[in-house]
Amino acid sequence: MLVKTEELKKHFHIGRGQILHAVDGISLEIQENEILGLVGESGSGKSTFGKTLIGLHQRTSGQAFYRAEPLPKDFKTADHLRYSKEMQMIFQDPYSSLNPRMTVLDIIGEGLRLQGEHSGKEIRDKVAFWLQRVGLHPDHMSRYPHEFSGGQRQRIGIARAMIIEPKFVVCDEPISALDVSVQAQVINLLDELKQSMGLTLLFIAHDLSMVRYVSDRMAVMYLGALAEVGPANDLFFQPQHPYTQFLIESNPEPDPKMERERAHKPIVGEITSPVNVKPGCRFADRCPQVMDRCRSETPLLIATSENRQVACHLFT
Ligand code: SF4
Repeated sequence: MLVKTEELKKHFHIGRGQILHAVDGISLEIQENEILGLVGESGSGKSTFGKTLIGLHQRTSGQAFYRAEPLPKDFKTADHLRYSKEMQMIFQDPYSSLNPRMTVLDIIGEGLRLQGEHSGKEIRDKVAFWLQRVGLHPDHMSRYPHEFSGGQRQRIGIARAMIIEPKFVVCDEPISALDVSVQAQVINLLDELKQSMGLTLLFIAHDLSMVRYVSDRMAVMYLGALAEVGPANDLFFQPQHPYTQFLIESNPEPDPKMERERAHKPIVGEITSPVNVKPGCRFADRCPQVMDRCRSETPLLIATSENRQVACHLFT
């Protein structure tokens, strides 16, 4: 086990006594060298979970561990420096996540510069190496972000994370802002880096087919809580939680044969508000199999087999 959370919560006070339960008690383990895909609709708290896990948000309560070592609740500058050598993040939007006034050299080299352990020449050499490694040219280091396409900018974001040689990388919807034509290239680059560097990835996305393609296991998140966890293919082809079934229905399988093998259970409505969440199952207002107890008892995430977990009263 490389990364672990226990009842991790991140709440935001949004005024008038209202609390947004963005992450509301996530207990999850990520094994070394695995890709864990974290899926769910927009607003389910996936990105907030990733950011809280690596200290970009201060958690409200719960625990987070890296190599069994408890991570601080409130990351100070020294903690960021220490753990940024191990844990990095690739952001969703390659347009807003790169400072437009910094050159590519400064953007990619910034992490090394902050560590204060490398000369200017060493940083320059490493930036040149990583530009090539992600499919760009060393000459690009003197340019600015606006001179690049979306796909190239995401490659710069990947180089910025990888130059640190981390062990764990949170990929926060790394392809959702890109053209379909370059999404596969970026996925293949991440997969190749994962293999060659022995990385462990938390891959956050809403496109289930893509997540299944890259992930060893998947975790499904709904309104700040986990609905289901399991091996990627098992979860995709035999979803247990009604919400997982809904998500898969919303992502048609491109292969017609595989598409025919799946169950069809239409679900309507949109994700409800994570503000002042009611007791009971968070999915009750949309679930076609809702029962009386679902409205009052919160389902716990329980094991349904050796490697699968689900939070639904249909299984208790
Ligand atoms: Fe549906 Fe009830 Fe299961 Fe929630 S606990 S997903 S409402 S059946």
